[in-house]
Amino acid sequence: MTEKLIDGVYIEGAKIADTKAPTGPIVERWETRKFQTRLVTPANRRKLDVIIVGTGLAGGAAAATLGEAGYNVKAFCYQDSPRRAHSIAAQGGMNAAKNYKNDNDSVYRLFYDTVKGGDFRSRESNVYRLAEVSANIIDQCVAQGVPFAREYGGLLDNRSFGGVQVSRTFYARGQTGQQLLIGAYQALQRQVAARTVAMYTRHEMLEVIVVDGRARGIIARDMVTGEVQTHLADAVVLATGGYGNVFFLSTNAMGCNATATWRAHRKGAYFGNPCFTQIHPTCIPVSGEYQSKLTLMSESLRNDGRIWVPKDAADCGKDPRNIPEEDRDYYLERKYPAFGNLVPRDIASRAAKQVCDEGRGVGPSGLGVYLDFAEAIGRVGKDAVSAKYGNLFDMYARITGENPYEVPMRIFPAVHYTMGGLWVDYDLQSTIPGLFVTGEANFSDHGANRLGASALMQGLADGYFVLPGTISDYLAGGPYPKLSADHPAVLEAQASVRGRIEKFLSVNGTHSVDHFHKQLGHILWEKCGMEREETKLREAIEEIRALREEFHRDVKIVSKDTDLNQELEKAGRVADFFELAELICIDALHRRESCGGHFRAESQTEEGEAMRHDDKYAYVAAWEFTGVSKPPVLHKEDLVYEYVEMKQRSYK
Ligand SMILES: Cc1cc2nc3c(=O)[nH]c(=O)nc-3n(C[C@H](O)[C@H](O)[C@H](O)COP(=O)(O)OP(=O)(O)OC[C@H]3O[C@@H](n4cnc5c(N)ncnc54)[C@H](O)[C@@H]3O)c2cc1C
Repeated sequence: MTEKLIDGVYIEGAKIADTKAPTGPIVERWETRKFQTRLVTPANRRKLDVIIVGTGLAGGAAAATLGEAGYNVKAFCYQDSPRRAHSIAAQGGMNAAKNYKNDNDSVYRLFYDTVKGGDFRSRESNVYRLAEVSANIIDQCVAQGVPFAREYGGLLDNRSFGGVQVSRTFYARGQTGQQLLIGAYQALQRQVAARTVAMYTRHEMLEVIVVDGRARGIIARDMVTGEVQTHLADAVVLATGGYGNVFFLSTNAMGCNATATWRAHRKGAYFGNPCFTQIHPTCIPVSGEYQSKLTLMSESLRNDGRIWVPKDAADCGKDPRNIPEEDRDYYLERKYPAFGNLVPRDIASRAAKQVCDEGRGVGPSGLGVYLDFAEAIGRVGKDAVSAKYGNLFDMYARITGENPYEVPMRIFPAVHYTMGGLWVDYDLQSTIPGLFVTGEANFSDHGANRLGASALMQGLADGYFVLPGTISDYLAGGPYPKLSADHPAVLEAQASVRGRIEKFLSVNGTHSVDHFHKQLGHILWEKCGMEREETKLREAIEEIRALREEFHRDVKIVSKDTDLNQELEKAGRVADFFELAELICIDALHRRESCGGHFRAESQTEEGEAMRHDDKYAYVAAWEFTGVSKPPVLHKEDLVYEYVEMKQRSYK
């Protein structure tokens, strides 16, 4: 490792490699790995304890599957029911390579689209496995009774999502996540009834216990009583979702946070590509200073809705219905005729920003573009549009007070998803042996940009198929030595949690947690949002450090820790967001190329498209924690492309 400080903020360490991914033909790799993994015989599984933190789609599916396999599972979530995981919010659908529409789809095409969509910053082996497993997920969910939309003849229906030219997205109206979650939940509850899974709701994991280099348990706080508890196991799985709420305003549920992954990072789990955040083009624009949440209008709407702004900035204040066709700029259809309104999210978001920067944005703030259904309603009728998107239209009408069947919707990009997350190998194991990470919480298969409808696919692939196939290799080495509750590592983790709680309660400052969180989000959005550049990123790092210091000096938490105390919960989460935000900016600063959701102003083509630098940056950036405000260490994992040629992405 060179100890040299680079850019004044980080150090470069040894390279890292994914040693679990088999070589050989890509079509055989997953089968090969499954055959290589050591197994645990059914009678021995009940002797092994597995903790799963998070019971959204990724964790719920994993807990149900491992419970059914016979392991002793303890599952945790901070909501009052697994049914309330953020996964419930997913609207548009889930991809799978079934080729039901007979439009030349295949496992290979889904693999190809996903690698290209991720702007060549994901692993080929992982993405191929994801595409391969996708078809099994549909069968699994149909068997559970998930009510996917069907065509008149009874066959499962499909629609399209961004960045692809086939229809492979399975959906349940605009409630796909909810229906999938009910499927996973009933499978989970079956195991709870069978006593293979013990469910701990309203419990927040606040620390991971690492003994002799292995993850051996967690410290969790009962959010109702405040009791700080120790839970020990042979392996720990984090399925704790994404960190989009670091930006304060996002489409994520209010509770989504990074505490579980950040605490693990502090204990030795590397963080992969933290700056790869997804900004979704189709959200209801910000309406004022007192807003705490943004609402997604599903990408599925872009199947039929047409995006436009006035050609002339002088028309922006007019009633859109009175702007004639020839005075409208359907800019996505104009710039990207092959994919039109269904270009990938990173491209659509930047294009919206561009027209707004030109002064052609619509709505009170000027930060909006139209999503217009007039043509679709004229073509197929209002009833047909309502049958497909009715609940989304109702939601829009309730939030904005406008009727989208009559007036075009107004939309603008908003933070939505995080491609970054804890680094994992092909087995989904982090750099801490025994600590596995699934779903949005890992750095995942999406590279620098996730294609629509592929997060549900990845979460369920991880939970139902991949993790159950790989974790046995680690558990076959167990049961690991019994630990007592007064083991020094357990006591240290307990003390660290209690110390933090006591510190927050003793500050007695003058401002609420949200006061600081909002400012943090503002810095990130302005300086590390849709467009990033060197000077602004450097400013952001300084501003985040100063604000973090102020937060710890001046935050006010009322009440006590032996009770339900949401301000206390938020304080811990925002403290972790502060540290993560700094790493996000360092990662963004070091990657002097544009790729996917990471657009560096200094690296663009003449046409303003993202310009990668494969000679320098074709790697996963895996960051090691060295201390607060201490330079993190960068470990590079080289990305090798044997099957998909790396080239400039084009959707024209
Ligand atoms: C509005 C919206 C719409 C979307 N629509 C789609 C779509 O149509 N198609 C698609 O593919 N993707 C979609 N996505 C993305 C997708 O929904 C998510 O990526 C996915 O559901 C994440 O699932 P998960 O299981 O990884 O995490 P989550 O569903 O977020 O679950 C996290 C779990 O971890 C628990 N948890 C977290 N931290 C702790 C802790 N410290 N202690 C204890 N428990 C903890 C939570 O309680 C929860 O149970 C959408 C996202 C949003 C925001």
